[in-house]
Amino acid sequence: MTQAATATRELILANLEAVRSRIRDACRRAGRSPEEVDLLLVTKTVPAERIRVAVEAGERLIGENKAQEALAKYEELKDLPIEWHFIGHLQTNKVKDVLTFASMIQSVDRMRLVEKLDQQLQRLGRSLDVLIQVNTSEEESKFGVAPEETLAFVRQVARYDTLNIKGLMTIGKLSADPEDARRCFRLLRQLRDRIVAEGIPRVRMEILSMGMSGDLEIAVEEGSTLVRVGTAVFGPRPQPASHFWDEQAKTR
Ligand SMILES: *Cc1c(COP(=O)(O)O)cnc(C)c1O
Repeated sequence: MTQAATATRELILANLEAVRSRIRDACRRAGRSPEEVDLLLVTKTVPAERIRVAVEAGERLIGENKAQEALAKYEELKDLPIEWHFIGHLQTNKVKDVLTFASMIQSVDRMRLVEKLDQQLQRLGRSLDVLIQVNTSEEESKFGVAPEETLAFVRQVARYDTLNIKGLMTIGKLSADPEDARRCFRLLRQLRDRIVAEGIPRVRMEILSMGMSGDLEIAVEEGSTLVRVGTAVFGPRPQPASHFWDEQAKTR
């Protein structure tokens, strides 16, 4: 291993330990058992060899948000016991690709996607674990079912035998005030409780996927059972090129 690779490895391992301890501390403060909260490592833009470091250190849940990128890493890391989750906006023309590697899709948010998933899963003769993504911050830029439509949406999805609803997912509001994120997480928990009270056949609500690098403590306090962490383990991601500036450059 080169010196640079060794340094990267040690950094990932130290970051991972720090995140695990943040989760443990948050659980302790909230009077919860650390076993109730799973860690999903978000590895978008992270090269396969860095993912390998985290998996060899005992992590098993990996989340990606782009079909092509995820598929390539899945092929490269086939020798490892990884559970791949898809957590991004899923276009219907990518469903086939995602089903080759994903053991869970966390971002189910519209009936057209549900129908496409069902069609492909029927063809494959299998079922799939899914979470329903809720837009708890109600920002237009975010994907997800509106909070007030979530119960009706869950009922509709529950009719498809190929889809096992395991819970809900949300992205907390990014804001200077951590209470904004807390409101999002609390709303997701309340929606979960509401859906559980309805007793819809085949619907399980054991997973509340909420909390990221910046707000995982708040999410744990509000009942998260799965935090999705990228930056805090793998460092900052390269910023995607802005189309706006590309356009500007072209006309100059
Ligand atoms: C990128 C991403 C994360 C992780 O965000 P970090 O701030 O890097 O921890 C979590 N969830 C989703 C849906 C993401 O796209």
